[in-house]
Amino acid sequence: MRFLDELLFPGRCPVCLDIPVPKGALICNACRDKLRLIEDPRCLKCGRAVRKDTAEYCPDCARLKRSFVTGIAGFNYGSVPVRKLISRVKYHNERQLLDYPCALMAGHYAQTVEAWGLSCLIPVPLHASRRRARGFNQAEEIARRLGAVWDIPVEKKLLVRQKKTLPQKELDEAARLKNLTDAFALKPDPRGVPLCAAVVDDIYTTGTTMEACTRALMQAGVERVYSIVLAAVL
Ligand SMILES: [Zn+2]
Ligand SMILES: [Zn+2]
Repeated sequence: MRFLDELLFPGRCPVCLDIPVPKGALICNACRDKLRLIEDPRCLKCGRAVRKDTAEYCPDCARLKRSFVTGIAGFNYGSVPVRKLISRVKYHNERQLLDYPCALMAGHYAQTVEAWGLSCLIPVPLHASRRRARGFNQAEEIARRLGAVWDIPVEKKLLVRQKKTLPQKELDEAARLKNLTDAFALKPDPRGVPLCAAVVDDIYTTGTTMEACTRALMQAGVERVYSIVLAAVL
């Protein structure tokens, strides 16, 4: 019986570490039900959930300048399984946990993204020392999974971090934007700059990082920039 069990359920669910996963599935059914894409009403700018049906924009997008055209956000970062999953990816190097949420998001937003006419996906770069410490950039991992489904190339070396920034958590909003204003730049590329690109990140909080990357890209000549994030804080 045990042998048969292992044949049918080769592993435990990588999200809850508890329930055996049916063959061919990425996570268990219980976790699948908990990992849900953000539903309407969503902010027309950044794509995160808004609390009221009547609100077009989230409070941040309503009061702050947004240079990107529009964006999509996959999941609510406030949901416990989403938060757990992202932290396991980042701090325990369990990148395979991104397979399921990225597949779900890629499928759901395929038409939206196709209509944008993107030339490439650009992951938000980590500072080199942080990347070395972690061994990978989670934004790049997300971009690669989405790009594979959408058939859009990922340009992981185009946008660079020029200087080490302070941890954003410790700064107020004005200081955050200042801290990031000069942090990002485009590397010169013989192919020129892409006409239309999406910046990809793991977590969207106030949108400051997304705005800073967008400005850096537009200053370099990218005409239209879109925002794509795996999870957004409500
Ligand atoms: Zn599970
Ligand atoms: Zn918004």
